[in-house]
This record gives sequence, structure tokens and C-alpha cells, in this order.
Amino acid sequence: MPPVTEQIKVPYLDLRVTDNEQRQALLDAVARVFDHGRMIMGPEVAQWEAELARRCGRKFAVGVNSGTDALYMAGRILDLHPGDEVITTAMSWIGTANGIALTGATMVFADIRDDLNIDPDSVARLITPRTKAIMPVHYTGKVCDMDALQKIATKHNLPIIEDAAQAFGAAYHGRPSGSFGRIACLSMNAMKVLAACGEAGAVLIDDPSLHERLTALRYNGTVNRETCLEPGLNARLDTLQAAILLVRLQYFDELVEKRRLIAQKYEEKLSDLVKTPREAENCRDVWYTYTIQTDRRDALRAYLTDNGIETKIHHPILMPEQPAYRDNARGEWKNASRILGRMLSIPAHEKMTPEQVDYVAAAIRKFYGA
Ligand SMILES: *Cc1c(COP(=O)(O)O)cnc(C)c1O
Repeated sequence: MPPVTEQIKVPYLDLRVTDNEQRQALLDAVARVFDHGRMIMGPEVAQWEAELARRCGRKFAVGVNSGTDALYMAGRILDLHPGDEVITTAMSWIGTANGIALTGATMVFADIRDDLNIDPDSVARLITPRTKAIMPVHYTGKVCDMDALQKIATKHNLPIIEDAAQAFGAAYHGRPSGSFGRIACLSMNAMKVLAACGEAGAVLIDDPSLHERLTALRYNGTVNRETCLEPGLNARLDTLQAAILLVRLQYFDELVEKRRLIAQKYEEKLSDLVKTPREAENCRDVWYTYTIQTDRRDALRAYLTDNGIETKIHHPILMPEQPAYRDNARGEWKNASRILGRMLSIPAHEKMTPEQVDYVAAAIRKFYGA
């Protein structure tokens, strides 16, 4: 038997740096940090923050260690406390719930629509006098129905926290993801579409007083490095990751274009056989995942594995059913449960060759006898 890695013909992701030009640019950026030596809060951090704020149509971006840190800090600047409720989707990576839950607030889980994003009608049904915020997640790199969500938020005078961890670069009705909520949170961990070489995240805001508080909160709640105003984590973004992200940003549009072409090809070749994830009108998705839905998910997944194609289920446990939350989880997630058994993410990353894309599409067609 050859080792398992040799049997994989199409990996789900490939995080190696294989492009020589980009590799050199990254090495040069790292070398500049070695030269100036400001490993923490070096000049690249502010440069990166300015660039990020500009791209997301925001006044401020605050670079932090991770998307989870960003969400926790969002909860802190909203002054969430035990007894408060935050409504989010049932379907997301658990970091979505954890960041807020660590403030002591209670997570309430709304159902999803068939596009995997939060259902605004479900959100409206779950609002109580204790609700303090609504937190949509732009799942799979697709922006939520922000018109409907903003209507609900305005009616009840509630802030929106955008979990845009999967959707940097996506757009909705001409506006970039990350520009909608009072606060938006991003992740640039190594697996995201715009990826650091490790962990990274950001909080986006417009309000200068929130910006001041966030910069204190990301370093032990201190001002002027010594005076602690409130307890906080050490959540600063490394200079090295900021330097890497500045380089990666230059290749980002090209990378998204590659993903969009793959999505287009899958749409052409698969939409008669499975439910394909379509872009809504006047929206631009970045395809963090390409997630199809089918009744024969498990059999299809086994067949693709046998044919050397790696797939994922994002994520196999709904947030309200996680051991950490299930005992007193409130909300509704009937549609999420139904879809969970039908969803499969297939490889759709920028390093795939056209032959690999064709191979995946052909394997799926063959599975259905098409
Ligand atoms: C990745 C992710 C997070 C957490 O980001 P980290 O940087 O990994 O902490 C939060 N929410 C969603 C939707 C994510 O995909």
C-alpha cells in the first residue's frame, strides 16, 4: 500500500507557498521585519490596519491574534454581561459562539436558510427584552441577507456584530462584507481565503471611542503600556503576520478570481445533479468553501475519498448541539439540522489545476451515473 498522501489526488486545501514570486515577496517582507526588529506592534501592523479599513469601507481596523479574539473583544466593547442574549446562527465554526459566550452572555441560535446563512425571520422570532445584539455569520464566504437583518436591528434598536471571518472580499449590493455591523470581526488564519502564515484576526469599527477601547483591550486593557483600565487578554497581531498579510493582499484579487472560475465551472457541470451554492443577485461571494447539498451525501463522500478527492463537512456538529452549549441552548435549528446531513464541501481552492477541477466534477457526475 502506498502512503495515504500519495493516494490523495485532489487535496481539500494546499497551504504550501508554491508560487516563486510570492515566496520571494514574503521572504523579503519577513527580512524587513528582521532588519527593523520591532517584532511587536511594528510599522507593518498600522500599515496593514489602514489597508484593511480602507478595503472594508471602515474608519478603523484593529489587528488581533485571531478571529475568536476579535469576537470576544466585540462582546467586550458592547459591554455584554451574564443575562444578556446575542442571537447568532446555529451553523458556524464554534469560535463564533465562543468569542461572545466568554463575556458571560447567552448565545441564542437562529435557523438558517437553504443558502446556509442565518434566516432573518428566525432572528425576529427569537428577540426578547434581553437581546443585546444580532450576530450574522457570512458563512462559506457569502454575505447574509443584510437588508432584512438591518431592518430587524433598526426596529429593535439592536447593534449588529458581523462575523465576517469567512468573507473578507465578499460584497452585497455593492458594499463590502465587514462594512455593515456596528462591529465586524475578521479572521485571517492560515485556512481563510486571505490567509496569514499562522493566526490573525481583526476588529472593524467606525466609532473613535470604540477604537480607543479596543486598542487598550488588545493589550491587557492598558493605556500607555502600563496603566490597566480593565482586564484584557494579550491579543496583539504579530508584526510578522501583518507583514505577510500586506504581501498576501497584493495577490488576493487574483486568488479570488481563480476561486470564482472554479465555482462557475462546478455550477455548469454539477447543477443538474446536486444543489449547488449560487451567488445571489448583486452579490459577490469569495468561496471560502464550495458546499453542495445532496441526499446521498455520505455515499458521495465515500466515493470521492476512494477516488483520491478530499472533502469536508463544515461543521459536523451544530453550535447548539456542542457539548459546551447543548444543555441549555435556546433557539431554532430545524432547517440547519436537515441541511447538516446533506452538505459537503468539495475542493475549490486556487491551487487546483483545471485538470483537477475537471476530475472532481467528472467523479461526481460518474457517481450519479451521469
Ligand atoms: C475561522 C472562523 C472564526 C474564528 O477565527 P480564528 O481566527 O480561527 O479564531 C470565527 N468565525 C467563523 C465563521 C470562522 O470561520
